[in-house]
Amino acid sequence: MLAFTARRLLAPNGVVEPALMVVDEGRIREIGALGDQQLPAGATHCDFGDGVIVPGYVDLHIHGNAGYDVMDEGAEALPAIERMLARHGVTSYFPTTVTAPMDRTLRVLERLADAIEAPARNKTDREGRAVPLGIHLEGPFISHARRGVHPREDLLPPKVETFERFWQAARGHIRMMTLAPELEGAVELIGAAAARGVCVSLGHSDADFAATERAIDAGARHATHIFNAMRPLGHRDPGVVGAVLTDSRVSADIIADGIHLDPAIVKLVAQAKGWELTVLVTDATAATGMPDGRYRLGSIEVDVHDGKCTFEGKLAGSVLTMDRAVRNLSQFAGWALLEAVGAATANPARVARCPDKGMLRAGADADFVVLNERGDVLRAFVGGAECI
Ligand SMILES: [Zn+2]
Repeated sequence: MLAFTARRLLAPNGVVEPALMVVDEGRIREIGALGDQQLPAGATHCDFGDGVIVPGYVDLHIHGNAGYDVMDEGAEALPAIERMLARHGVTSYFPTTVTAPMDRTLRVLERLADAIEAPARNKTDREGRAVPLGIHLEGPFISHARRGVHPREDLLPPKVETFERFWQAARGHIRMMTLAPELEGAVELIGAAAARGVCVSLGHSDADFAATERAIDAGARHATHIFNAMRPLGHRDPGVVGAVLTDSRVSADIIADGIHLDPAIVKLVAQAKGWELTVLVTDATAATGMPDGRYRLGSIEVDVHDGKCTFEGKLAGSVLTMDRAVRNLSQFAGWALLEAVGAATANPARVARCPDKGMLRAGADADFVVLNERGDVLRAFVGGAECI
């Protein structure tokens, strides 16, 4: 049994200080104010001093980092990516595909399913690494007009039968799917995917307001990097952005790197969606944590210069890390640091329907991070085991 103490801890109903958290067999056993509760006899004690214990970050949209892409064939790619994620406070993540030829996507989905099933088989092998919880399928059911850098020739019309091939290859581990709701067949696919527990996310879309509302009625519940790769918000043409910002059934994620969105737009999204429906993602690529240069993103190569990833002049993912995204949201939206933390923890865990992640409460997985006052990650733990 492990007992962790710190000056403060972020619990679902507020801040506990000074805090005691007891962990047993990878799960949180109890949380309380130190003094009201005593250190359990026989527990190994670890004190974080002035640090703040917050839930481990959950990233719903990640293509890679450290020079590797989640679609890479090599066995060294995912472990390298997962170690770097943990160093930036991410304890669980959703490896995200980029549109590619069908046979390649099917192979990647099988391999990612292997990785997702592996932690249960071998726990010690995974220490020091973020854990993949499910797959995020970004494309191929997206708009030609808003495809960003997804290859035109590999885009496909939404069809339940095509999704079924992906679903089988992924052995049911697809947890998120970004699609364009205006495409013919999208509404039927949204219903079918939502019925299987997939979070259908609106994105890479040229939809108008009415088409977006039909998709939400059919079960879409989230939006992928709102504003980016979307029909722009117009005052007489609210479109997909206007629908997502105003419909309380839908959460939205943002890439808060200061490049993809102006800080004022980050604040606009934060104000419209609020503390519970605003979600931070990184959309990080292989270039994250690496010097400027040329890096893979799925099946294309992107140029990275001064923190900006581009392909043929278009933005192509980011080099953002989640710890910086949290600090940026706090600064851009004027939220306290611990308010911004919710957008990287409880909110994405709710979007992906992972009740044991994103919150520090009795019974949940002991995935947590220790921050200093500025939001720098000092320590990270997955299932009670230290990563950094
Ligand atoms: Zn992406």
